[in-house]
Amino acid sequence: KGPDPDLPLIKERMARIKHKILIMSGKGGVGKSTFTAQLGWAFSSRFSGHLDAATEEDGKHAGEEEEEEMEKQVAIMDIDICGPSIPTILGLAGQSIHSTSQGWSPVYVSDNLCAMSIGFLLPSASSAVIWRGPKKNGLIKQFLKDVDWTAGLEEEDSTPSSEPLIDYMLIDTPPGTSDEHLSIVSYLKESGITGAILLTTPQEVSLQDVRKEISFCRKMNVPILGIVENMAGFVCPSCTGYSEIFYPSTGGAKALCEELGLNFLGSIPLDPRIGKSCDLGVSFTDEYPDSPATKAYLDVIESV
Ligand code: ADP
Repeated sequence: KGPDPDLPLIKERMARIKHKILIMSGKGGVGKSTFTAQLGWAFSSRFSGHLDAATEEDGKHAGEEEEEEMEKQVAIMDIDICGPSIPTILGLAGQSIHSTSQGWSPVYVSDNLCAMSIGFLLPSASSAVIWRGPKKNGLIKQFLKDVDWTAGLEEEDSTPSSEPLIDYMLIDTPPGTSDEHLSIVSYLKESGITGAILLTTPQEVSLQDVRKEISFCRKMNVPILGIVENMAGFVCPSCTGYSEIFYPSTGGAKALCEELGLNFLGSIPLDPRIGKSCDLGVSFTDEYPDSPATKAYLDVIESV
């Protein structure tokens, strides 16, 4: 069997994307899609200055220019093929993909945040995808080879077509280490994966499964950017009392990082407003800029 003829095409497309970051978790339901979407939003608004906009309303021109300079392009690729929730969380439910002579265009959330998901290809949000490995593999290949990730982005005449135009691509993967992970890692081998962010809840069972993710990344030579603890502790909005939802409530991910020499990227608290923002398809960090969870998302961005 000769080399895959599609690999050069994938490499060409992927050259337009600077950082490719896998978001992984050992278990389902730990908040991986939520984290991916909210982080994507935070990345795009953080760098385009949306969070600072409220405090800069007195219209400083210099500030605006600075914001523009800092603007980052972010793409989210959802390869959780059997459970795509990215379209809903990003407020894009019901949208579909358009194609041009350059390939499939991703769906845009804002000028600098776009997404691609099998969810955009399904007749309805309740349609089930019951596919075996080779078919999933085929779709992931198409996402890498046929999506014109830079569609709609203004290109300066001077930009050579191989220059990266997208700063960050966050790749939402299914839980565990399955066909999808093997596909994406092998297709991106030549283009390079910046690294993986591993998500866990503080609960011991979830932490145990993170060890499997770590072992997968090490075997596949995927750098581990760090571990994030999600749903760590709950501050009740009515009584402001602090409750521990899981046992142990927090600290396990940090200890694991210390044990294995990995970066601990922070703890995101359990905040019902995160779920609400996802159901409404809005950016949590933009809606609640002063919340501890927003600080936690921004801390992750600072640390990667
Ligand atoms: P996964 O992708 O890991 O299966 P989801 O992102 O679908 O998990 O999240 C599972 C549920 O937990 C969703 O209802 C989501 O809104 C909620 N959720 C995730 N993170 C948080 C958080 N930090 N605080 C409150 N709810 C959260």
